[in-house]
Amino acid sequence: MGSKLCIGVDLGATNIRVALGDETGIKKRIVEKTDRLHGSLGISEQIVSMVRRIGVEDVCAIGIGSIGPLELSRGRIVNTPNLPFKDIPIVKPLSEEFDIPVRLLNDCCAAVLGEHVYGAGKGIKNLVYITFSTGLGGGAMVDGHLLQGKDGNAHEIGHLTIDANSELLCGCGCRGHWEAYCSGANIPNYARWLIQSDEAREKFKQTIENPPSSTEEIFSKANEGDLLSSWIVEKIGEVNAVGFADVINVYDPELITVGGSIAIENPDLILKPILSQVSRHVINRLPKIRITLLLRDTVLYGALALAMQGD
Ligand SMILES: [Zn+2]
Repeated sequence: MGSKLCIGVDLGATNIRVALGDETGIKKRIVEKTDRLHGSLGISEQIVSMVRRIGVEDVCAIGIGSIGPLELSRGRIVNTPNLPFKDIPIVKPLSEEFDIPVRLLNDCCAAVLGEHVYGAGKGIKNLVYITFSTGLGGGAMVDGHLLQGKDGNAHEIGHLTIDANSELLCGCGCRGHWEAYCSGANIPNYARWLIQSDEAREKFKQTIENPPSSTEEIFSKANEGDLLSSWIVEKIGEVNAVGFADVINVYDPELITVGGSIAIENPDLILKPILSQVSRHVINRLPKIRITLLLRDTVLYGALALAMQGD
């Protein structure tokens, strides 16, 4: 008897990744740029074609971890800010094509499931995953139960309010959300705002003329010891400590794993300020906080774990 084969799909705004695997891990994978040229149906057709290529023979189910927001009851992505289509059907076109169960989850929900089955959270029942990339998101498992919400969009933690009177607007249009400070897309904006502050003027009279402008530049200069960039990274860390504390106070996790390209590339710069400051804002007993062992494959492993559920 061989082990049960499944297919996992990580549906992102930039790439679609499809993996064939079993409970021991990923056996084979295909990656393609997400098709933005053939309408909303082009996305599901692309997934169908990739699934065919990786091979559906002897496969029990397909799991998909997708960008949101989702409308889980209809198996669709709706009004995503990250793709130019309003309504993207996912589950139905795949179910019609392949005669096996097709399951869909928000990517961060999938990621925490991936951590629980394959990653550092193996066997841990109270677990949170937080990702720092273009956006800032998270998924939570409480008492062994994956939290999803009415439409599958529970714990949009990037949109926790850090400061309701903030001058920084989030991409969603609200004021002072966590993501407005600390996501890859918004860090440059937060940095510009910081640099104009009285505190910065006093501290950095000499260097302020040539400030770092991109998220990448801020972190690479901080890694080289540049004082202004290090100060910006410290400020990002202060906000992250508040965000992590909110998450800890709400979910009471035993472990938080941290992923996303910014955290994976700058583990110390992201984690150290959180670890040193989070206890100031927390009422619950502190969890362990660490970088994900699954690195850039967290969602893909989660999708695979989702496919294996329930059979
Ligand atoms: Zn927001």
